[in-house]
Amino acid sequence: LFSVKNHVVDSEKVYATSNLDAKIEEKVDSVLALMHLNEKIGQLVQYSGKWNATGPSTSKGDQHKLDKLKKGEVGSMLNITSVASIKETQKIVMEHSRLKIPLIFGYDVIHGYKTIFPIPLGESASWDLDIIKQSASIAAKETAASGLQWTFAPMIDVSRDARWGRIMEGAGEDTYLNTVIGVARIHGFQGDDLSHPNTIAACAKHFAGYGFAEAGRDYNTVNIGEYELHNTILPPFKAAAKAGVATFMNSFNDIDGIPSTGNKVLQRDILKQNWSWNGLVVSDWGSIGEMIAHGYAEDKKHATQIALDAGSDMDMESYAYEANLEALVRENKISIEQIDDAVKRVLRLKFELGLFDDPYKYCNEEREKANIYTDEHLAVARDVAKKSIVLLKNETNLLPITKNLKSIAVIGPLADDKDAPLGNWRAKGEYNSAVSLLEGVKSVVDKNTKVFYEKGVELTIPTVKPGENQFLHPLKFNNTDVSGIKAAVEVAKKAEVVLLAIGENAYQTGEGRSQSEIGFFGVQQKLLEAIYKVNKNVVIVLMNGRPMDISWAANNVPSILECWFLGSESGNAIADVLFGDYNPSGKLPVSFPHNVGQEPLYYNQKNTGRPFSPKHVTYSGYTDTPKSALYPFGFGLSYTTFEYKNLELDKSEILKDGEIKLSVEISNTGTRDGEEVVQLYIRDLVGSLTRPIKELKDFKKVMIKAGETKIVNFTINSEKLQFYTVNKKWEVEPGDFNVWVGGNSEASLKGVFRVVE
Ligand code: BGC
Repeated sequence: LFSVKNHVVDSEKVYATSNLDAKIEEKVDSVLALMHLNEKIGQLVQYSGKWNATGPSTSKGDQHKLDKLKKGEVGSMLNITSVASIKETQKIVMEHSRLKIPLIFGYDVIHGYKTIFPIPLGESASWDLDIIKQSASIAAKETAASGLQWTFAPMIDVSRDARWGRIMEGAGEDTYLNTVIGVARIHGFQGDDLSHPNTIAACAKHFAGYGFAEAGRDYNTVNIGEYELHNTILPPFKAAAKAGVATFMNSFNDIDGIPSTGNKVLQRDILKQNWSWNGLVVSDWGSIGEMIAHGYAEDKKHATQIALDAGSDMDMESYAYEANLEALVRENKISIEQIDDAVKRVLRLKFELGLFDDPYKYCNEEREKANIYTDEHLAVARDVAKKSIVLLKNETNLLPITKNLKSIAVIGPLADDKDAPLGNWRAKGEYNSAVSLLEGVKSVVDKNTKVFYEKGVELTIPTVKPGENQFLHPLKFNNTDVSGIKAAVEVAKKAEVVLLAIGENAYQTGEGRSQSEIGFFGVQQKLLEAIYKVNKNVVIVLMNGRPMDISWAANNVPSILECWFLGSESGNAIADVLFGDYNPSGKLPVSFPHNVGQEPLYYNQKNTGRPFSPKHVTYSGYTDTPKSALYPFGFGLSYTTFEYKNLELDKSEILKDGEIKLSVEISNTGTRDGEEVVQLYIRDLVGSLTRPIKELKDFKKVMIKAGETKIVNFTINSEKLQFYTVNKKWEVEPGDFNVWVGGNSEASLKGVFRVVE
């Protein structure tokens, strides 16, 4: 037993903590040795507590939680925010429970805490791992300053269906991009040392397959085979485990008949055993109980047995473990070793975070005041936001706009919206706190420039009061009221340039927000066409959480700027790009389709036996729509132009564990300095399994001055060539390979090489 600071239980049962020499494992064991079964099970229980500093209410549900907290039968709480309320809740445990094992407090901090960064899909468009890490580390600092220690992020589900509302929460359609961005976010949240007061535990979610919900319907069945699972879905999770992510969350869906929450192969064999990961797996909200509705468990007791046995350590809001684990242990259906293993995972994390040393360590009002929503954080949010913008079209070089133009019209339902840019899953982002596009424009144009504003149309009809949680409410769209279009047309006529802010309501994407259509909802298209009729100098400022069908716009208006939901500094960041203070450098992390019927659409498909080609247009395509994307994965323009040439490989043949150096020349052929995301794609031509027609394997974001040429180098090695083969192993198979380098997934500059035994 170790020396003690805060945790004297009684003179004999002394344990834990501030002895820095003691190994965490020994401390964990010393605590475990003191625990009764009910206390062990308690550590595996997580409740949501929607209460403030006054603590639980008198409702039956809250009283149950209070009771359990006092008995030390709760391991974690989620959704309690602010130092005052966290302190109050921690106090209940510290003052009443026998062993005084501190709670760990979790919350969904998905793209910022109070300083809101772009939604993850938008931020991923920056392809800038440093700023992605930086935004996560600021989010962690603010989160920790408010008393919390755990975020349920990042989501690293590869997602390829624009209809799926949660596509906004991840890094899009590509496995490699999800992998490197996921790792950057984890490092940002966790830093190098979880016990540092500015870092928090991250959570790799949703394990696994959630992004492959059939037809993009949230929670839906996932039908993929073992090889697709290993090659496409698991790599970001494997990398997360390797990067030391503290926790995993499992997923609501089933894969090939087995709900992830009850999937022993996934959670025990792959994650905990093969990947030697000793972190904590939390269930998704209610997902243990949901195995009953799946038809996989008879009742909660059965669900409890399946889930714990499968390696789901902590029960988030199913109330299943607390009611059934004790009986299951007594009946020998769950072993005490299984319980101990799960409990140790919880205790380990609490030690790593330093909660045993000081359960109130994160509860410091001064820090809370000083560290949240600071000017410094907002400046980073602006930087991240401008780097997340993607220039999709700029045919007549309408952009950038000069700041001293005579007049500009800012039109559209999202033009002066101070709330939408915060997007869904905005944590503590305050209602109406973002800089709107109109505000951003006004703050940069010349004082003599006339700025006209008209909303034109309403996108939705409010169903909840402003600021109320819209999570559970259906959205009602304005499909009829076009009365505002006339005034919008009038200002469009008078203006040199029109900025038209259209797209989606912030709550059209997110959990439970799947859609069968992905065009401009409501009467926005009518507004767009009416404006374009009277003024051809239209820039569409698109705000959205998913790839949309913007075909009409793409075929007509000269300029389109993809602005996602960019967070607190949205309007300023968009103005930075519109007026040329920042040369856009974002690239799409998802393909944009010509229409919804192409979904799921992704660049790294397989060929099929009848590949589509200009000669065989009816092969594996559609007769009524192109096969390719409207804007492909990796695509994004700049105010300058880049030319790729002289792709060179230092060898044409390598052994399986060999290495090829690739170099390529990129020239900035325009008149502005600019950053380019140089992308490397590889194809394995023949495999023991059919292989995608190309896969992103590396990229570099480089700044190239106007007129300058840079040589960019890549190394191709077994890591980039291997896949999960028919032998159920990651291997490089000998044969011919193609490699392309370019500014998007349709890159044509190609090299060939061969791998030999
Ligand atoms: C979501 C998770 C989230 C959890 C807690 C669930 O509904 O699927 O992603 O972390 O709720 O809020």
